[in-house]
Amino acid sequence: MRIPREGLPSRGFSLLCKLLNNAKRENWCQCHLADQQIPQLLEKVDADVAEKVRQGGCLHCSGKLHSAKYRRKPRGQPKQDWERDQEVYRASFCCDQDGCRKRHTPPSVRFLGRKVYWGFVVVLVAAMQHGITPPRLHALREGLGVARRTVEHWREWWLHTFVQSPFWNAARARFSPPIDLKTLPLSFCEAFGVEERRDRLLALLQFLSPITTGSIPLGWSM
Ligand SMILES: [Zn+2]
Repeated sequence: MRIPREGLPSRGFSLLCKLLNNAKRENWCQCHLADQQIPQLLEKVDADVAEKVRQGGCLHCSGKLHSAKYRRKPRGQPKQDWERDQEVYRASFCCDQDGCRKRHTPPSVRFLGRKVYWGFVVVLVAAMQHGITPPRLHALREGLGVARRTVEHWREWWLHTFVQSPFWNAARARFSPPIDLKTLPLSFCEAFGVEERRDRLLALLQFLSPITTGSIPLGWSM
């Protein structure tokens, strides 16, 4: 999925490339973060997946699924009009059969597990840790209201929890050349070609979505 880089440039050229790349990375990251259409697009994708889970019924018995959604207050976006008047929910369902009542929380492209920030903010800001200078990262964090410690936790999560997850264990073989685990999630952004393309960001979030739920098996197909 990744475009191979050719040759080894001289040091000066390499430094110039790095500076240019940094500026470019910061730009695409901020482009996505400022894109007002992304939250609504992701909401629609989540709603479609949730409907599929609901229609499939209980995975443990023949019961029907009833809505038992969670209210969420995701952070990390500049205040937007649609957000002010709208409650944000994460879809979830419960089986209607006594003795089962199992919860089914569909995979999500919006919420990365229990993290309180929008999933794409967790991906993009954590990616930028590897992509831009500390002062620029500081400005980016300030703009989104994300504490430095929070970004450090995200980094820990990507570099330790994520790489040891059953999901990554099953998914890693799909990437050739292999993903650079030390620069996660920037290496994912590069592998998926996320730069400036909303649909590629969506593809990355869809790829990651099985890890956002513990109640739907990893192999469940979107
Ligand atoms: Zn059931």
